[in-house]
Amino acid sequence: MELFWHRRDLRVADNVGLAAAAGTEDDARGPAAPVFVFDPDVLAHASDVRVRRLLDGLAALRDDYRDRGGDILVARGDPETVLPALANALDADRVVWNRDYSGLARERDAGVRRALNEAGIEREAHHDAVLHDPDTIRTNAGDPYSVYTYYWRKWTDRETDPLAPTPEADDLVGADALRAAVGGGGGALADGGLEPETDSAAIDRVAVGDLPAPADLGFAEPDAELGPAGTDAARERLDDFLSEAVFSYDAERDYPAREATSRLSAFLKYGEIGIRETYEATEEAMAAAEEKAGKGDGDDDNDDEGPAAAVEEYQQQLAWREFYAQVLFHNPEVVTENYKEYEEGIAWHDDPEEIAAWKRGETGYPIVDAGMRQLREEAFMHNRVRMIVASFLTKDLLADWRHGYDHFRERLVDHDTANDNGGWQWAASTGTDAQPYFRIFNPMTQGERYDPDAEYITEYVPELRGLDADLIHGWHELSPTQRVNAAPDYPAPIVDHAERREEALAMYKRARGED
Ligand code: FAD
Repeated sequence: MELFWHRRDLRVADNVGLAAAAGTEDDARGPAAPVFVFDPDVLAHASDVRVRRLLDGLAALRDDYRDRGGDILVARGDPETVLPALANALDADRVVWNRDYSGLARERDAGVRRALNEAGIEREAHHDAVLHDPDTIRTNAGDPYSVYTYYWRKWTDRETDPLAPTPEADDLVGADALRAAVGGGGGALADGGLEPETDSAAIDRVAVGDLPAPADLGFAEPDAELGPAGTDAARERLDDFLSEAVFSYDAERDYPAREATSRLSAFLKYGEIGIRETYEATEEAMAAAEEKAGKGDGDDDNDDEGPAAAVEEYQQQLAWREFYAQVLFHNPEVVTENYKEYEEGIAWHDDPEEIAAWKRGETGYPIVDAGMRQLREEAFMHNRVRMIVASFLTKDLLADWRHGYDHFRERLVDHDTANDNGGWQWAASTGTDAQPYFRIFNPMTQGERYDPDAEYITEYVPELRGLDADLIHGWHELSPTQRVNAAPDYPAPIVDHAERREEALAMYKRARGED
């Protein structure tokens, strides 16, 4: 029997570590007993939104195990003490998990490895979360990549691993056996398999399939409407996306009012769908598109356009996720520090009132406000709008990207340290392969280009409903009287874009030692 420790891989299917622990292809191994540990150190960095989403994902995972006659152990405490205690109580041969590449997770895993070694318990870590291990794609000189395009070329040329086999019922420890091992009927730690005086001291609580409520963990129910969680929901979304929208992804993905992207980010963040499964499905969509084009149906497909190229553009986004994972893996300090060194520090303006207006979605720049309100209502924001609001915070409000990162970290359901940090440092021109500092989005023309009919804007900014799109996109040019007549409850722009643009350029030039 082996203990499998779930972390950011809340799925049974295509789970490399779980398949190994369950002995799906090795009769000498398994069955697996899955466990999730609520670690106070990890919870200290969590948010209401993410705790709710995590619990939803865990409930779906538990149901998947129950469908197979199993269940999941749910423990609370420090994994360094919980895991050896549980492994002893269950008489497990080893503890198995999938690697997490962020700095904090790596520190925690090193502690768990030490604790298991000291307890004389075997352990094994697998590569699972990304298609290509962050340490394996390097330049010919052996360095990690800092330019995405070169990284992508190597990434896309690589062989991918096959899907990890899904454990069957007899590869898993049954629910009754789990209950017998930890004692009690799914409630608090009882005098069953765990020795109260030794092991239980390490664990606040262990239960079979009994999940806490957010309040039990010190969190509130979020106001935002979160989408569905779990593998079934992820597969449904992926299938739906790959059946049609993906074939025009390249042309449509930048328009926030169109449902043109996969909305898979939270599922990928919590590992509710495997990346091998996801990628393989895109390869099948690509093959179908190529076959269709090959049949001479009039589609003038070539390498740069057409349905197959659209699928490839989607794969490129999956590769951005892996690019940022390897940036974080090689540079764990980017979570708090600029990736790019400036000669002088950037002298951010950091006006608390302006930052607060940005967070509330009351800047008087309609596309920015729509994005910030989508974030509040759905714990999600469209990618193009994330780029616009991030540019606005850093280059119009001249505020340190860390204010934005912290706010996104608290509010985004798909918050992922590597991607969020990568996105922010890209927008702030401080990151790897970032937007050059002199490329400053104009929030009005961005809104006009990507939301021409102001559909997205008016969905989230009700004060502007009923106005002509021209008026909305020209909001900054209206006189105070015109604004009050048109939409009395919507604010005037809090800053002048043209002025702030000049200030931003000067700020970056000073930091670069160029003035
Ligand atoms: P799709 O367009 O369908 O893309 C498919 C998948 O590819 C996404 O689910 C995601 O896993 C990955 N992906 C797409 N774009 C990027 C990108 N630019 N960088 C890295 N991965 C990408 N993405 C997150 O997953 N978590 C974050 O915390 C996050 N924070 C961001 C912050 C900023 C300032 C910016 C500019 C971008 C951020 N992104 C983040 C990237 C991107 O906005 C989201 O991945 C995307 O909007 C999610 O929607 P989707 O699943 O429909 O994307």
